[in-house]
Amino acid sequence: MTNPQNLKYDFAAIEKKWRTRWLGRKTFKAGIDPDRPKYYLLEMFPYPSGKIHMGHVRNYTIGDVVARYKRMRGYNVIHPMGWDAFGLPAENAAIKHGTHPAKWTHENIAYMKIQLQRMGFSYDWDRELATCNSDYYRWEQLFFIKMFDRGLVYQKETKVNWCEGCQTVLANEQVIDNLCWRCDRQVESRLMTGWFFKITDYAEELLAECDHLSGWPEKVLTMQRNWIGKSVGVEVEFPVEGLDRKLSIFTTRPDTIYGVTFMSLAPEHPWLAELADGTGRETEVAEFAARIIAAKRKQQPGEMEKEGVFTGRYCLNPFNGERVPIYVANFVLIEYGTGAVMAVPAHDQRDFEFAQKYQIPVKVVIQPGGRELVAADLTEAYVDPGILTHSGEFNGLASEAAKPAIVAHAEKKGLGRGQVNYRLHDWGISRQRYWGAPIPMIHCENCGVRPVPEADLPVVLPTEVNIDPSGKSPLHTLESFYRVDCPACGGQARRETDTMDTFVESSWYFARYCCPDFSEGPLQKEAVDYWLPVDQYIGGVEHAILHLLYSRFFTKVLRDLGYLTISEPFSNLLTQGMVIKDGAKMSKSKGNVVDPNELIDRYGADTVRLFSLFAAPPEKELEWNDQGVEGASRFLYRIFRFVMSNLETIRNAPAGFDPELLNEPGRTLHRKTHQTIRKVGTDIETRFHFNTAISALMELTNQLFTLTGDVADEQVAPEVVREAVNALLTLLSPMTPHLCEELWQTIGHTTTLARQTWPDFNEESAREDEITIVLQVNGKVRSRLQVAPGINEENLKEQALADGNVGKFTEGKTVRKVIVVPNKLINIVAS
Ligand SMILES: [Zn+2]
Ligand SMILES: [Zn+2]
Repeated sequence: MTNPQNLKYDFAAIEKKWRTRWLGRKTFKAGIDPDRPKYYLLEMFPYPSGKIHMGHVRNYTIGDVVARYKRMRGYNVIHPMGWDAFGLPAENAAIKHGTHPAKWTHENIAYMKIQLQRMGFSYDWDRELATCNSDYYRWEQLFFIKMFDRGLVYQKETKVNWCEGCQTVLANEQVIDNLCWRCDRQVESRLMTGWFFKITDYAEELLAECDHLSGWPEKVLTMQRNWIGKSVGVEVEFPVEGLDRKLSIFTTRPDTIYGVTFMSLAPEHPWLAELADGTGRETEVAEFAARIIAAKRKQQPGEMEKEGVFTGRYCLNPFNGERVPIYVANFVLIEYGTGAVMAVPAHDQRDFEFAQKYQIPVKVVIQPGGRELVAADLTEAYVDPGILTHSGEFNGLASEAAKPAIVAHAEKKGLGRGQVNYRLHDWGISRQRYWGAPIPMIHCENCGVRPVPEADLPVVLPTEVNIDPSGKSPLHTLESFYRVDCPACGGQARRETDTMDTFVESSWYFARYCCPDFSEGPLQKEAVDYWLPVDQYIGGVEHAILHLLYSRFFTKVLRDLGYLTISEPFSNLLTQGMVIKDGAKMSKSKGNVVDPNELIDRYGADTVRLFSLFAAPPEKELEWNDQGVEGASRFLYRIFRFVMSNLETIRNAPAGFDPELLNEPGRTLHRKTHQTIRKVGTDIETRFHFNTAISALMELTNQLFTLTGDVADEQVAPEVVREAVNALLTLLSPMTPHLCEELWQTIGHTTTLARQTWPDFNEESAREDEITIVLQVNGKVRSRLQVAPGINEENLKEQALADGNVGKFTEGKTVRKVIVVPNKLINIVAS
């Protein structure tokens, strides 16, 4: 009955057949259907760098399993894919290979699309978009103008992070340990004019809603909270002695304000020369500041040994009138707060170390209670709360109660005001490079900065340009682009030549997927209201404070502009672990890259998918190993072989059966089938633990072989084998869809698994035949044990040891005896 020719698992032919069918029939096209619950599954879209890598394969395979699973669960699933297509690598590649960034990008997109299609991902390709197309970025330009009108966009000259390698400015979020996030080059500080999005207007909401994102990993929320960096405190002004100046400081520890013994200023503080003037310390202060500013270009202030010099000048603590010496110190940052910090060495470790070094007095103003701190004996700062002392009218208050009392006092006496500060800065979105969305603004000498009139949008990025090998944007010198008439006075004006940070495009692409062809506006209300928010988002944790924060901000802006009704874009977030090999992230420079294309050629897409799911749970790192791929491949061959060898049995089996009438092996397989349905569903639904789901399917496959041999004999009823094979193919189909569809069709089904309903398990069928063991000691019933079939010796041993040294119990109708000597089980015998 077995045709040997059927036994060749020709994965290449099978995968091509199904891929072609899905694409041709638009199997995964999604449309609005109010009668079904929607499910928006999204993976972070790729940058079209040239080819997909194993990180993509893993990310998109995880997403595809969830998408296919949810479809089988009855959801109306939207699963789109597109291209984050602007950005520097296109320009750099263009310089290197003498091609145009647009050509390079579109060629890469075409190639990568074929690669993704080879993987069998169930995307609705009709929703594909590329952010470098003007029918996408034109809407971003519209948002920019509307944000400008609402005061959410502004231009300022400021110190920016400049990457010489990339020839552009970077946002704070794109500087990691003072290095460029893209090219790892040391970032410089430069004074430049640029455009900013006022993300700080949303700082409080972004922070507060972190508490409600219950579907997000806690580590991502923690990173966002820290990045937003809210601190509640007070701003106090210290009058400078002998000058008509007041030094403004912000502190989150107003309870320690009576303990201030010096003041430290950033080396960049603009008053330094004025403060030192006439004190005889002018030169020392100027030289120190210059030296530290120069050193900061090479080193993080945090890495420098703390040092400073006295300016010769004092200020007065407005709370107690004490004279406070003013220092300039290398650890104070001009970027944060006011560039001046009140120093309380008794209660701040950094201040303590500085005071020790320069013999500055230490004054204890918080006592821990239970012991008495003495300033002269301190070996480190006491930073915990306690009871105030040497603090005037606030003596005796607990520090937490003293904080608001001191703030209130400061406000009443006009010494300062309560204030909330954020570490988050506005998002600098100006980029000085060419391959990006033009910023739709016009500079006129008479009228100032004016937005491009909406009717003139889009400002199309010109393609007829000469790419400058230095990386300088050709837009600066392209007269046909920058020379424009002022929309207000009609005079000659200059178009903005900066382009937008590519993170602007990725901040709203998930919304555009809902209506990619809508031409009357950026977002079609009916579509975004139906599909959004994204129910499950999947991507790398490296985006925690970049893309994932920007998208949240942008969603709130689009809500306030009236385009969206949601406030948060992503209900659930999964951050998958990296793919590593030989202990390191795969990278060209390390030479440990595995090319998915070669793997697909050699093993087929299903094997590649299966391996990437089986090797590790999604949030963990995936360590590459060749045996794992071989193992995945063998498993699929096994399934193929079993089904093809038992084709007639499976095809001809009667449809239904009564589980009560099954023989023992039949019941065992039937039970295993239902247990597997239960486990695979739970593992996918609750935890995305595909690896354990696959293990369960491997066990079921083993059972099929064990109970039937390669060829099913009369041992197990054919209808039970058929039930098991149906379940196996259905449950495995989200993971290895090509092979499952092929076998599904081969065993006689005319439906497609892509639209199959996820099977239900029968609780009764899945239940183990548990037995009760009555444990007797010296003729008395001491305990009853529920155990699975087969004696669990460990259970018995524990119980017998706990209860005495001799036990008797009955298993079913058999009476068994346990004879135990202390700590040792001698025997279990039938009596
Ligand atoms: Zn760079
Ligand atoms: Zn004008």
